[in-house]
Amino acid sequence: MLDLAAEHAPYQAELDTAWRATVQEAAFIQGPAVRAFATELGSWLGDAHVVPCANGTDALTLALLSLELPPGAEIIVPAFTYVATLEAVALLGLRPVLVDVRPDTFNVDLAAVRAAITPRTGAVIAVHLFGQCADLESLKIMCLSAGVFLIEDNAQALGATFTFATGEMAYAGTVGEVGTTSFFPGKNLGCLGDGGALFTRDAARAALLHQLANHGQSQKYYHQRIGLNSRLDTLQAALLRVKLRHLPTAQAARQALAARYDAALAGLPGLQIPARDPRSSHVFHQYVIRMDGPGPRDALRAHLKAKGIPSAVYYPLPVHAQPAYAYLGYQVGQFPVAEALCGQVLALPVHPALTEAQQEYVVVQLGYFAAGGG
Ligand SMILES: *Cc1c(COP(=O)(O)O)cnc(C)c1O
Repeated sequence: MLDLAAEHAPYQAELDTAWRATVQEAAFIQGPAVRAFATELGSWLGDAHVVPCANGTDALTLALLSLELPPGAEIIVPAFTYVATLEAVALLGLRPVLVDVRPDTFNVDLAAVRAAITPRTGAVIAVHLFGQCADLESLKIMCLSAGVFLIEDNAQALGATFTFATGEMAYAGTVGEVGTTSFFPGKNLGCLGDGGALFTRDAARAALLHQLANHGQSQKYYHQRIGLNSRLDTLQAALLRVKLRHLPTAQAARQALAARYDAALAGLPGLQIPARDPRSSHVFHQYVIRMDGPGPRDALRAHLKAKGIPSAVYYPLPVHAQPAYAYLGYQVGQFPVAEALCGQVLALPVHPALTEAQQEYVVVQLGYFAAGGG
């Protein structure tokens, strides 16, 4: 699904130089590259404040901590997401309230969010799944009028843009009170280990987030709040500065691959290509097709595997069916779209180093399967 070595090959020398310079400088914690990377990423995202941290899960934890919500406050989270979104909520003693997603974009269903808002709601976490923005326009209005915070889990859609009815455009992660992202190696902007960051438009909140990520300290050994030790390593920041320069190229490669898949796969029986929301760009962290059910999906997966083609299921089990979250008391059947999607979705290879010839082979095998040859 990924070929990081091939993806890094064109700029391997730049990575080596960054690595070596950081080792020589020996400022491994909060070295100059950390701030430089935060500034560069912030300006790339339309002048947002960027606070680096240790990983995308910590970013969610820090975002929630910064809201200073009462214990047990309800946090609305989509039922179809990576578990980290829920985990941060649960670990802080807040109450995850799950809502179903849309069958077309797989992003959170607005009517379900509206129905889930109560006087105890503290925040809504929107997840921009697979690289396309959730309905930020409606979410922003809904959260504003309900007096609850909007958090964007932007681990999968860094660089995607959303255009509002006014014509104003914003980057994913910079619309809500706080946005979070992950630099896990497999993400669109991945480092060579773990990393993450938070985004906000509010300088005071950025300062608070920075403090929370550094043991809650205002200066060394003076602690205002209970915080985390959650920092981006200088080494990772130095490598991310290199990779950020190459991100537009990688993003264009993903989008070109997605467009070719769209053209080749549209109309194949039993298979739906990813739905596009015209208000959002799509950065294709994953290219996810939808099959009619678990039988055909698993058969296609087996066929591709037999032909040497990797594919993946994000996610095979919805969060409310995970044993760890049984305590929330949800029943199977409560989130029918999320549950159905777990049996229908299949992610195809869409990484930037995938060649046209490799993709053509995938397309031929998909066509062969759809024609009954699987
Ligand atoms: C990857 C991911 C995370 C967690 O990021 P880590 O850096 O692995 O902690 C959170 N939410 C979503 C939607 C993700 O895809």
